[in-house]
Amino acid sequence: MRYISTRGQAPALGFEDTMLTGLARDGGLYVPEELPVMSRGDIAALAGLSYEEVAVRVMAPFVADAFDEATFADMVAHAYMPFGHDARAPLVQLGPNHHLLELFHGPTLAFKDFAMQLIGQMFEHTLTKRGERVTIIGATSGDTGSAAMEAFRGLDAVDLFVLYPHGRVSEVQRRQMTTPSEANVHALAITGHFDDAQARVKDMFNDFDFRDRVRLAGINSINFARVLAQVVYYFTSATALGAPHREISYTVPTGNFGDIFAGHIAKRMGLPIRQLVVATNQNDILHRCLTTGEYRPGTVEPSISPSMDIQVSSNFERALHLAYGGDGRAIAQLMDELKHGGFTVSQGALQTLQDTYVSGRATEEETTAAIRSALDRTGELLCPHTAVGTHVAEAHLGQGPMITLATAHPAKFPDAVEAATGIRPPLPARMADLFDREERITRVDNDLSAIEAIIDARI
Ligand SMILES: *Cc1c(COP(=O)(O)O)cnc(C)c1O
Repeated sequence: MRYISTRGQAPALGFEDTMLTGLARDGGLYVPEELPVMSRGDIAALAGLSYEEVAVRVMAPFVADAFDEATFADMVAHAYMPFGHDARAPLVQLGPNHHLLELFHGPTLAFKDFAMQLIGQMFEHTLTKRGERVTIIGATSGDTGSAAMEAFRGLDAVDLFVLYPHGRVSEVQRRQMTTPSEANVHALAITGHFDDAQARVKDMFNDFDFRDRVRLAGINSINFARVLAQVVYYFTSATALGAPHREISYTVPTGNFGDIFAGHIAKRMGLPIRQLVVATNQNDILHRCLTTGEYRPGTVEPSISPSMDIQVSSNFERALHLAYGGDGRAIAQLMDELKHGGFTVSQGALQTLQDTYVSGRATEEETTAAIRSALDRTGELLCPHTAVGTHVAEAHLGQGPMITLATAHPAKFPDAVEAATGIRPPLPARMADLFDREERITRVDNDLSAIEAIIDARI
């Protein structure tokens, strides 16, 4: 399969180069040139298979030019071995027609593990085959960094540096980044905010001498391989509830639009999805845009669901690309306008977006109330991101099964959960020693040459 840029000006690539390149050279994001379609029979045949078997069947057409099926099946098996649940992504019932898809049984307790664990295997395989080695750099507000540390630690072909804002991640998130002892993974605590960390990462990619010298690669959610891995759990959950014979709806707590866009791909591949509901916190640019067509970033308002505190939602560009019928020139124009404050989606494209997505938002009070109400009515403890989802989902129930994605384990955000319920959720037994493990922290100033010097010295 060939992958093309949403902005239409970069060369088309195969799967492995798409994965290693990350951002296209014209500034766009890679998308498959054409999506494979699964027949009703193919989808019906997924029911009852293991998560790993479904993963291989759903992703095979996307990666066929890179890995033969046995090799790929082996990578998938390795990727999901460290999960703490045999079903990998189990469903739990919340109400008559409302289900929770628990995506937090991976090694770092958030859904990011599904993609990151597999990407680790795929990077290692491709780089070893090519005799290459790369330096991966990522900025994180917490969940992406910890998932990356866990996925890449101990691999031979990769050095990983994770830049997180000092003092601004939860203790669980920090310890997950600072306690792995393998020599190829490094947590750097930068003075400043997440935006500073992200800006320095961009600077490193724009410092071409440095970029080429250390062979820089990226693993944030603009990487199509990450979106692809997330398509799988739409298939496992929908078939468990009766697809393709019934239509299923999904509500997805959304920040960078990666997780929900994976649902859009599943729908385009033939999975009968009725509604895709975008759930945002008070940082509601996506909700406003899907309602009015106006995409104008404001300033980030920190919330109790920090992994969704985003004003520029990178993967939304992929949804726009579909809505504009693959017109790369139109997308490049919109992204140019974004640099100058924002853009307005055309009437036709907005209609197409609204045919696929509906949306809603939750305030801080509504999020806290949703955590409390879930506990009262079902005995389930929800993380604040998931609670944004269940709050928004409530407005869309009553048209067949609704699945809300539970994106993190409540123990990853214990302060918000305790404030809402009085209960401090414990870590799962398999990681109960997290607070006893030794931390390795490197402090660094918000300064490009200081960061680059550390990386040069360590690789
Ligand atoms: C990353 C993250 C999200 C947002 O996912 P996107 O793919 O960026 O929309 C939601 N909840 C949690 C817990 C996350 O870590």
